[in-house]
Amino acid sequence: MSRVYNFSAGPSCLPESVLEEAAAEMLDYKGTGQSVMEMSHRSKAYEPIIAETEALVRKLMNIPDNYKVLFLQGGASTQFAMIPMNLKKLGKAAYVDTGVWSDKAIKEAKKYLNVEVVASSKDKAYSYIPAVEKIEGDYDYAYITLNNTIVGTKWATLPEVGKRSDGTDIPLVADASSCILSEPVDISKFGVFFAGAQKNLAPAGVTLVTIRNDLIPDNAVEGTPTMLMYKTHADSGSMYNTPPCYTIYVMGKVLAWIEANGGAEGMKKRNEEKAKLFYDYLDNSKFYTSPVAKNSRSLMNIPFVTYENDTEKATALNKKFVAEAAAAGLVNLAGHRLVGGMRASIYNAMSIEGVKALIAFMDKFAKENA
Ligand SMILES: *Cc1c(COP(=O)(O)O)cnc(C)c1O
Repeated sequence: MSRVYNFSAGPSCLPESVLEEAAAEMLDYKGTGQSVMEMSHRSKAYEPIIAETEALVRKLMNIPDNYKVLFLQGGASTQFAMIPMNLKKLGKAAYVDTGVWSDKAIKEAKKYLNVEVVASSKDKAYSYIPAVEKIEGDYDYAYITLNNTIVGTKWATLPEVGKRSDGTDIPLVADASSCILSEPVDISKFGVFFAGAQKNLAPAGVTLVTIRNDLIPDNAVEGTPTMLMYKTHADSGSMYNTPPCYTIYVMGKVLAWIEANGGAEGMKKRNEEKAKLFYDYLDNSKFYTSPVAKNSRSLMNIPFVTYENDTEKATALNKKFVAEAAAAGLVNLAGHRLVGGMRASIYNAMSIEGVKALIAFMDKFAKENA
């Protein structure tokens, strides 16, 4: 068996020890004679799995008691609809447009309420996080994408969110799909904080949502399906219907791995070390460069391009890079189809050795193709 270094943006690499544990338990989970895949979600064996996974989420993310933790399906993309459907009261929300994922969230929200885009970085191909004036007004919520997976930007500091005209606070909603648990975050600053699991937490199939209790309405907008009401899942401990049992089980193992490696602080240290190596290399290179503004750089997704200006030559060079890297055991380095170039996603599970191997390859490729 030989494993590659997988720089996929999602689904992405998982800690090897997690895969080994899951494999060892595949046929017989703790003497039950069954795989977790085969168990009833209401069985004595499964109940502790989801309970322990939630306890670890709460512990590692330091989630206050007045927040629910939900394990939902439909991916982060379903949250783009659930948020306006459940949070709409006044009928208006503020969005910051920082890339493809926020643009999709905006388009979806417009089906349910008035969207005001209070800032955007579209003018420069989303290569930076825009400055945002304090968000104030009669908004049901303010929405940001905390880390922009495709363009490789992240919010270094959160936007200032003020009050409505009646003096109540505007809740901040964040899509943290590609940065959850990559560093500590103060959850109390958010009303809703959600992430599709397949980047930093688990295989695809579960979406983690943490939401402040008072934001869970008894009634969502008219016609909201039962499955798209937060209340349905909050009242039933994410067991209204069959949850994605196996994915939650693997998430529990990933969280235990994060805990054993220093928790959110440990991840931050690990991720900063990897990202620094990478950005330092790019910044000192005469062959490659980063298209992202320095003060907006992601810890998780690092796009890069060569200095080749001729579009046709650049495209050919990128293709050669991606193919030769894959042959060397460094896979999934093509940039997103919408932006081109290359991109290395270096989520929690990517080791420093993987990043060093990539840089060594990049250096060799630069010398051979300069
Ligand atoms: C991947 C991603 C999504 C989409 O997630 P799905 O689970 O596929 O719906 C949304 N937002 C961000 C920031 C992402 O990285």
